[in-house]
Amino acid sequence: MKRRKILKGLSALPLIGALPLRSAAETLSLPRKKRDLIQELGIRSFINAAGTLTYMSGCIMDEEVVETIENTSRHFCMIDEVQDIVGAKIAQLVHAEAAMVSCGAFSAMTLGLAGILTGLDIRKVEQLPHLDGTGMKSEVICQKSHNERYNHAFLNTGCRVIEVETIEDVRKEVSEKTALLHFLNIQANEGKIKHEEWVALGKELGIPTSIDIAADVPPVSNLWKFNDMGFDLVFISGGKAMRGPQSAGILMGKRDIIAAARLNAPPRGFTIARGHKVNKEEILGMYVALEKFISGDHEREWKSWETSIARIEGAVKDLPGITTKVAVPELGNTTPTLTISWDDNVVKLTGKELRDHLRFGSPSIEAGFGGLPLYHYQAGSDSVDPAIAETLKGANLIRVTAWMLQPGEDKIVAKRIREELLKAGSAKG
Ligand SMILES: *Cc1c(COP(=O)(O)O)cnc(C)c1O
Repeated sequence: MKRRKILKGLSALPLIGALPLRSAAETLSLPRKKRDLIQELGIRSFINAAGTLTYMSGCIMDEEVVETIENTSRHFCMIDEVQDIVGAKIAQLVHAEAAMVSCGAFSAMTLGLAGILTGLDIRKVEQLPHLDGTGMKSEVICQKSHNERYNHAFLNTGCRVIEVETIEDVRKEVSEKTALLHFLNIQANEGKIKHEEWVALGKELGIPTSIDIAADVPPVSNLWKFNDMGFDLVFISGGKAMRGPQSAGILMGKRDIIAAARLNAPPRGFTIARGHKVNKEEILGMYVALEKFISGDHEREWKSWETSIARIEGAVKDLPGITTKVAVPELGNTTPTLTISWDDNVVKLTGKELRDHLRFGSPSIEAGFGGLPLYHYQAGSDSVDPAIAETLKGANLIRVTAWMLQPGEDKIVAKRIREELLKAGSAKG
């Protein structure tokens, strides 16, 4: 609109044809129409009622994060200096001795372990991921129920992961090869050994301990809780609830390990983690996201999620054959989560069909199937572990969260789910 007005104004100038030629630099700085690449290339964008899933691009970055990325993009900086300064600031905020911005929690896991293995020895840094004959340690111990897919990050260093179940198992498995005792917070209730016991074991045996809290804020206090508890390394994602860059995360913990992790990280190029590059814009964007998240009004935000979930639940719960339930996952992805399920004698629909109708409807909406790992999206459907695919086939449910909804989208989600359930309900033979 504004642009059109300006153009009209210009054409009214009598001397328009006589304007002097512009230099290339001047031409470049002329206001131009902003491109909308999502529209231009026909990429599907959607309302995200599923959650902070990587394959759905995680989160919408906070406005101040985007501003930071844009403003810092016009300057050159030394990457190490940006990491030094931002790392010190982040460390203060999260009660850690030191911190660095990694390119996600997964990268933080690889880098943290690499730092333990190599210390500040550049020759060792160059040798990774080949450990044989180097004198470097080669094993990570974790509880069986904590050994899930993201532990692949440790394998990238050349280490292997040893599973244990009891404290006695840990004592038995520990050797001069043990580099790290790793804990997965979201599975804390599934393991026999609890957080404090894990930290105490590490201290007793003289082995560093780490914890993966990738998706485990809120509560905001988790940012410092595990540093305070005594874990040597803590890994968290930047592009989930913190709404930082999706390709950023934080490695925080002991000063000497973080310094060694930095040696394994870009800008250095003789390392296993050269591919874990984080540019200055994202390092600074991550810092702003963290700051904003810590100072945010979490109570208000929680209430708004509850209001949205109640609105969506209210739109469907009185329909025939429908059951709704709101629960809050305790240890990670902690947000009010609505499960809508139904009697398939009344509502002729599977969970997958409802998700597809929402996905390919207008506007497009993504809903979740629940705590089941959906690995990636391909040709209009989710690819899942074959064992899980079997379970999903007959599941008459969808799961909805509100934390990634933009203002006003809760009403649209409520209306669309109701429409689809009504349609499938009245169509029953
Ligand atoms: C998301 C997640 C990761 C990976 O985090 P990125 O920031 O995407 O690298 C690791 N562990 C757990 C438990 C996660 O949920």
